[in-house]
Amino acid sequence: MEDIVIIGSGCAGLSAAIYAARAGLNPLVLEGGQPGGLITTTNEVENFPAFPEGVNGFDLAWKMREQALKFGARIEGAIVERAELLSSPKKLFCEGGNVIEAAKVVVATGSSPRMTGAKNESNLYGGGGVSTCATCDGAFYRNMPVAVVGGGDTACEEAIFLTRFCSSVSIIHRRNEFRASKIMSERVFSNPKIETVLDSVLDEVLADDGGKCRGIIVKNVKTGQLREIDVKGLFIAIGHTPNTKFLKDSGLSFDDDGYIITKGSMVETGIDGVYAAGDCSDRRFRQAITASATGCMAAILASS
Ligand SMILES: Cc1cc2nc3c(=O)[nH]c(=O)nc-3n(C[C@H](O)[C@H](O)[C@H](O)COP(=O)(O)OP(=O)(O)OC[C@H]3O[C@@H](n4cnc5c(N)ncnc54)[C@H](O)[C@@H]3O)c2cc1C
Repeated sequence: MEDIVIIGSGCAGLSAAIYAARAGLNPLVLEGGQPGGLITTTNEVENFPAFPEGVNGFDLAWKMREQALKFGARIEGAIVERAELLSSPKKLFCEGGNVIEAAKVVVATGSSPRMTGAKNESNLYGGGGVSTCATCDGAFYRNMPVAVVGGGDTACEEAIFLTRFCSSVSIIHRRNEFRASKIMSERVFSNPKIETVLDSVLDEVLADDGGKCRGIIVKNVKTGQLREIDVKGLFIAIGHTPNTKFLKDSGLSFDDDGYIITKGSMVETGIDGVYAAGDCSDRRFRQAITASATGCMAAILASS
């Protein structure tokens, strides 16, 4: 039986692995289908401390991985399909039939940003001008026009945040009113830097010769009319799906969107010896540093 198994190898999982390994817990990390996690999909991370020149997301994750391996963490390419976390030992059923038993488990499986599926969106994602995180990438578009897709609180918040440094922000929403709270909608409507493009969906992202976003085409859902808008950056803000579906019968508790509910210390799940770290339980911050921080907390609690 393993002392501790960490499911996920993003910032949360690898940070948990560094702490657990240094605490002598001999952790096993199951890295899933995305070794290094979501941060590997972005070219430039400017807000992770200790990198004043910025760091490539893949390099950042790989340095964490190297550090975890250096202290003795073991990393396997397994995907967990189902888990029994109330039993003792806890059981993780992996793709291919392998069953891993563990005394303690850290769930660090992250969340996946939802995309619209518009033409060229995926080609320009992560470095080509299409992003799902204004906090992360907004500063790259200083004095440039950008667009946000979405109509909830997050989309409105991102649009308002972007007005601090972008020259203009177009917010594209498929309905004729926002789903966001009244106060957020009012802030959007009253902001002179924001143009609201309602009843409209993203149809295509346009690329320049260098493969960077130069504009978008939106389609009015009522008239079918297409309109081109010049933007250098596009932020898709239609929500995230936590990667927790495979845990639905595990004994963990989830909120309506599938985020793991934690208590007290932010990482305790209510099941003895089971912790949740990073974006799989965090709908608010979703940053590399907060994922690393909660990974650290989970490992410290697991080793105490
Ligand atoms: C475009 C973009 C740019 C970003 N830029 C920044 C930035 O500049 N600064 C910043 O701080 N943050 C940035 N972020 C956010 C940051 O990437 C995330 O907050 C961070 O990666 C979350 O880490 P995590 O470990 O919680 O989850 P993730 O990084 O999503 O890792 C989840 C891990 O779980 C594994 N996994 C999932 N399901 C299973 C399973 N069933 N079995 C086994 N393993 C599984 C995956 O393989 C993966 O290794 C950005 C995000 C995006 C999308």
